[in-house]
Amino acid sequence: MDILTSLASALFVPALLVTAGYLFTCVFWPFKACRVCRGHGQVYGLFGGIRLCAVCDGTGLRLRLGRRLINLAGRLYREINSTNRNR
Ligand SMILES: [Zn+2]
Repeated sequence: MDILTSLASALFVPALLVTAGYLFTCVFWPFKACRVCRGHGQVYGLFGGIRLCAVCDGTGLRLRLGRRLINLAGRLYREINSTNRNR
């Protein structure tokens, strides 16, 4: 086994573990705290007033990027299968 193969395998296993961990996180904890309001759902306005966060609509939650991709894949899968079924 040459040095390139051993280096590739040494990098492949941690990348696989990180990817599996992120997928696990996206499935079981799909939301994360909003970056703008830090999960509070409220932001302070210019003159000291409190208003709802416009980014998360006051929920304080944001969908993770991986979860958005999972939802998109599921939506595409359902759309493709529903159009094939109608033919
Ligand atoms: Zn927010």
